[in-house]
Amino acid sequence: MFDYMVVGAGFAGSVMAERLASAHGKKVLIVEKRPHIGGNAYDHYNDDGVLVHKYGPHIFHTNSQDVFDYLSRFTAWRPYQHRVLASVDGQLMPIPINLTTINQYFGLNLTAFQVEEFLKTLAEKRETIRTSEDVIISKVGKELYEKFFRNYTRKQWGLDPSELDSTVIARIPVRSNRDDRYFSDKYQVMPLHGYTRMFERMLDHPNIKVMLNTDYHEVKDIIPYREMIFTGPVDEYFDFCFGKLPYRSLDFRHETHSTARFQEAPVVNFPNEYPYTRCTEFKYLTGQEHPKTSIVYEYPTAEGDPYYPVPRPENAELYRKYEQLAKDTPGVFFVGRLATYKYYNMDQVVAQALTLCTKIMGMRRRELLD
Ligand code: FAD
Ligand code: UDP
Repeated sequence: MFDYMVVGAGFAGSVMAERLASAHGKKVLIVEKRPHIGGNAYDHYNDDGVLVHKYGPHIFHTNSQDVFDYLSRFTAWRPYQHRVLASVDGQLMPIPINLTTINQYFGLNLTAFQVEEFLKTLAEKRETIRTSEDVIISKVGKELYEKFFRNYTRKQWGLDPSELDSTVIARIPVRSNRDDRYFSDKYQVMPLHGYTRMFERMLDHPNIKVMLNTDYHEVKDIIPYREMIFTGPVDEYFDFCFGKLPYRSLDFRHETHSTARFQEAPVVNFPNEYPYTRCTEFKYLTGQEHPKTSIVYEYPTAEGDPYYPVPRPENAELYRKYEQLAKDTPGVFFVGRLATYKYYNMDQVVAQALTLCTKIMGMRRRELLD
């Protein structure tokens, strides 16, 4: 008899399993339908021996000391500051938009102080900041919005920025200095030996059993357990009884090239050209040295594995119905990006899982992490 059946071996499921087993002495079975652990953060060495992220680039960043310290139990880290260039009008320019981007795009030589004044002349006042369009136009005006954001967003989401919550594009700051890092968090690191190795260590506990290649439907009535932790799509759990929650998917096209370097930056974004949104060269992220190099292009699609919840009011409203049903379902806990329909980064999922552990285990955060 297992105390918990955990559905999904991504961050949400693995943190839950690890804490329930290690800090609470529970017996846990993880059931994962894919042939590997790690969820969307899974990485592996490809046939040429290059470490790649199967489901697109995953860069770890957080401001949470607790999350950083907790994961540090399972991995050493490599410092890594992520940088991205956007391909606009035949030039590569830093994104997030910063002083360099403005000077390069407009052919100017402004200082940080001058650029703030300049941006004020471009920005258009919006009474309320409700949509992703409002966020950008109120900061940098229409021209930069059209060149750097509008088409990228239409490609990525199949929606205009005016149809998406402000939180989507608000992930990308606008800077008046030369800081060209993609993230501003206190901790910006990559697991030294990769994500999968980190997950292996998390799940290496005598009370944790992992069953791969198994949809939980195949075993839930055969294997006895007391309670369930569910990290898959919440609408699927309830047989889409209120209708489908929209998720955005991606096709990943991986390539390996017989050259040590493929592009000028870890990621190049293509807001306006090509059907893909961005191209990532993994060796920048992993620090691996190798005579060949591997890259991935991301082609957004409506069909396929659910990768992104789509943040907009009607979807939030539909999710609230599922959320209520989830609350009314005894013995099943919902956690993670798909199960709570939140556009969460990895660290936010870890934090959410740790919070759920404190509730289930009746412990304070300090006790849980001691
Ligand atoms: P998942 O990783 O999706 O895990 C859920 C697991 O449940 C999956 O393995 C799935 O196979 C399994 N499952 C589902 N249904 C069933 C079932 N019926 N039976 C059995 N198993 C099932 N975050 C960052 O912090 N930094 C980044 O740079 C970053 N880049 C990203 C890039 C892309 C392209 C994507 C898609 C996401 C990115 N993220 C990034 C977000 C990150 O992937 C998520 O926050 C995190 O992986 C979510 O973990 P999770 O456990 O909630 O979900
Ligand atoms: N975005 C954009 N242009 C860019 C980069 C991002 O318009 O060059 C918008 C787009 O809507 C994207 C969102 O900002 O979906 C969030 O970008 P992020 O890089 O955080 O997306 P993720 O890594 O989660 O795919």
